[in-house]
Amino acid sequence: DTVGSLLDRIAAMHPERPALVVRSQQVRLSYRQFHADVERVAAGLLALGLKRGDRIGIWAPNRAEWVVLQFAAPKAGLILVNINPAYRVHELEFALNKVRCKALVLPRRFKSSHYLDMLNELAPELAGSPPGQLASVRLPALRDVIVLDDAPAPGTHAWSEVAARGDAQAIDHLHTMECELSFDDPVNIQFTSGTTGAPKGATLTHHNIVNNGYFIGEAMRLTEQDRLCIPVPFYHCFGMVLGNLACVTHGACMVIPGEGFDVLATLEAVQEERCTGLHGVPTMFIAELEHPEFRRFDLGSLRTGIMAGSPCPIEVMRRVVSEMHMSEVTIAYGMTETSPVSFQTTPDDPLERRVDSVGRIHPHLEVKLVDEQGRIVPRGATGELCTRGYSVMLGYWEDDVRTREAIDEARWMHTGDLAVIDDDGYCTIVGRLKDMIIRGGENVYPREIEEFLYSHPKVQDVQVFGVPDPKFGEQVCAWIRLREGCESSEAEIQSYCRHHLAYFKVPHYVRFVDAFPMTVTGKVQKYLMREAMAEELL
Ligand code: ATP
Ligand code: MG
Repeated sequence: DTVGSLLDRIAAMHPERPALVVRSQQVRLSYRQFHADVERVAAGLLALGLKRGDRIGIWAPNRAEWVVLQFAAPKAGLILVNINPAYRVHELEFALNKVRCKALVLPRRFKSSHYLDMLNELAPELAGSPPGQLASVRLPALRDVIVLDDAPAPGTHAWSEVAARGDAQAIDHLHTMECELSFDDPVNIQFTSGTTGAPKGATLTHHNIVNNGYFIGEAMRLTEQDRLCIPVPFYHCFGMVLGNLACVTHGACMVIPGEGFDVLATLEAVQEERCTGLHGVPTMFIAELEHPEFRRFDLGSLRTGIMAGSPCPIEVMRRVVSEMHMSEVTIAYGMTETSPVSFQTTPDDPLERRVDSVGRIHPHLEVKLVDEQGRIVPRGATGELCTRGYSVMLGYWEDDVRTREAIDEARWMHTGDLAVIDDDGYCTIVGRLKDMIIRGGENVYPREIEEFLYSHPKVQDVQVFGVPDPKFGEQVCAWIRLREGCESSEAEIQSYCRHHLAYFKVPHYVRFVDAFPMTVTGKVQKYLMREAMAEELL
């Protein structure tokens, strides 16, 4: 299937089943209606003059139009470029120019953010251009700007006007054009989170994401009876593939509580729509469980969902199973470059394994763990996780050098993550290769020290990383956020560690901070901490 033919097939199988509910916009569409909307917009995009392979960016929070475009752009042979709605002018310019977007879809405003004003700041030529003919100095490739608002804005098309261009004749043209598409065509450019450096644009094909969505849905045992609540962002693969695409591959209903994450809106959506599934990163589940009004909600309809994105604490998993009724909740591991999921637990796995591991390799994928020389390590030993199969991206957009660094000649994707796989095939993520500290020849894994330091009563949050050292190569450094009202010292932390950890793991430097540098997706950027320490120690 291509993304488009997948939707054709599912909509023909379940035309009257609910496809999409967006509560914040009062949108309720059956598969027949959703399919019709998608076709109109796809045909309308072609009528604007966009051509196969052109890039169309979407810079918007979770809205109904996002989901429609997720299927309409690939149907029209376009490449959808996901742009984080938290990006501001500078980052937007980077993303649009990096992949030379020809069209951009954006809301006029969302909460206090004025998206159209920010775009006008970047492209002041917009106001004086006829729609579709923007010629901007700073955004040289951009022609068409589509605003998710019906009131006209100078130089732009309204979303409804694009859909209106998709008349019967335009839809005939769309169907003819669709026959030429191949499932190996690029369909999506997703940016990585930028945890270890500048975000990279991963180019994914129909084949990559349709199949990954299908196997994610299989691990969750989705059917057309399911209603999945998706409060995670669409611009990231979590919302787009683990949420929307997994639903459509199985004819399930996508339930969107609102534009951004809101605990009450999410719990209300689950209760009122009788959702059978709920997605979230661990901190979202914690926020739901800890909310003072949590007990007020009847969540008895829940059965499944995915917790992913960062390590999932055992206590949270237990509460999700018992207090949120999600007896079949699964954990997933993946990366943008592999569409994204490659490991996932299933309801058949024992609860312990569904908490302390990321499960076993997905169907039709291969995995190996290798040492620095590329040799496969024995079972139970730590090595770099490499995956191979249908889900590996085409490459980073127009960046052969970095693509070759990530994907070797035998098509193995080197994930840069360290892992252990046990005799039963269960995988545990140990940390990132780039974060591993080599101190005087000893390998030190930051996560082990972080987990230990969490046991200190004054420590609220901690990050451990290596800093260059002339004698040992690297030294261990810990940045700590203390609990409210607590005070501590480097010596106190070091002496606490000395009692419990080998000498080479004891942090040589301890610093107390108010916050860690973070990506817009909420991941901690250790490389910036390393830079700050290197400067301090100069
Ligand atoms: P960049 O590649 O730009 O530095 P990133 O790797 O954080 O950023 P993503 O593709 O969003 O960008 O995230 C993939 C990474 O997230 C994985 O390589 C892994 O380090 C981490 N990760 C994903 N799922 C899990 C999980 N279940 N447990 C632990 N870590 C995870
Ligand atoms: Mg990465």
